[in-house]
Amino acid sequence: MKGIVFTGEAAEVLTGLEVRDPGPGEVIVRIAAAGVCHSDVTAAAGAFGWPAPAVLGHEGAGVVEQIGTGVTNVEVGDHVIISTLAACGMCKACGSGMPTRCYKTLGNMAQPFTLNGDPCWNFAAASVFTERTIVRDIQAVKIPKDVPLTSACLVGCGVMTGAGAVLYRSSVQVGDTAVVYGCGGVGLNAIQALRVRRASRIIAIDTEPQKEALARQFGATDFLDGKSPDIVEQVRALVPYPVNGELAGPFNAGGVNWVYDVVGHPAVTSNALEMLDWGGTVVIIGTPGGDAKFELPYQRFTQCERSVIGCRAGSYSPHRDIPQIVELYRRGEFMLDELVSATYPMEKFHDVVHDMHSGSIARGVLTFD
Ligand SMILES: [Zn+2]
Ligand SMILES: [Zn+2]
Repeated sequence: MKGIVFTGEAAEVLTGLEVRDPGPGEVIVRIAAAGVCHSDVTAAAGAFGWPAPAVLGHEGAGVVEQIGTGVTNVEVGDHVIISTLAACGMCKACGSGMPTRCYKTLGNMAQPFTLNGDPCWNFAAASVFTERTIVRDIQAVKIPKDVPLTSACLVGCGVMTGAGAVLYRSSVQVGDTAVVYGCGGVGLNAIQALRVRRASRIIAIDTEPQKEALARQFGATDFLDGKSPDIVEQVRALVPYPVNGELAGPFNAGGVNWVYDVVGHPAVTSNALEMLDWGGTVVIIGTPGGDAKFELPYQRFTQCERSVIGCRAGSYSPHRDIPQIVELYRRGEFMLDELVSATYPMEKFHDVVHDMHSGSIARGVLTFD
């Protein structure tokens, strides 16, 4: 079979792939559609140091083709969304409903594929950029068959990373105010989750002006240009110190309750902290990778109880949260179809990457007919 393989230097569409039969508790999924996430592009550039050859892709959906012994949550023919969280299901984190903190969910690598007969690695425990992949049963979440798989495929990473930061990592109250810094495939989902949570002000920030229409479609009440040098003041002008309408009150009072930093850049995180009202929280979702650092003024924390917290993969729990998002979608309260800017055959992977970098798409989806 065919797949997009990290060769050690780049990503290439190669033939000659095979996947092994499922063992106990494992599921073979025929992939119908897969979203291209920035992590795939980072891996393809060799920045993760992932071993090669490896079958890329970690955001996908498809149809169960084969199940191993002991699998009870899905049957052959079921439609499933694949989660990268190959959680153990038994540790303290898993038992607390927080599988993103399960030690088994990071760095698990295996070689369930062969490439021309030689062992070939998986990626992010998912490898959805191929016709058939193998996952653990805990990673396969059954969904109704009326949900288009080209939309469903985005849920496993991009949707949950953005929406989950709002729904599961934060405690947004009705009427709260928020900034979403970065309006790509992840940021748009933070925006629509804030709409679901009935935030009163959802301020979207991006350096690409063409993102404004999409951001507003997903629920943003305001859009600001991230390149503006006075971006903090612009946010504060929208949400001023409430007593007298000044941009900032005592000890920098005024500003929003939440900032979702989808970018992950020291300048953005510093701005985010200055946009917060007393008691507000910056949720860091994006990462520049490596050992990048930023500086924080102590005063903002101890005098006015601001916080900075991290969020991995939306802090979601696949079998609890994916069905909820899918149900909101079926009720028309959560947009998935609108996230799919274009579909491409697998061979056009490099076109998707190009379109991602030009900022012209929310999410590009590969199909595997
Ligand atoms: Zn991803
Ligand atoms: Zn665990």
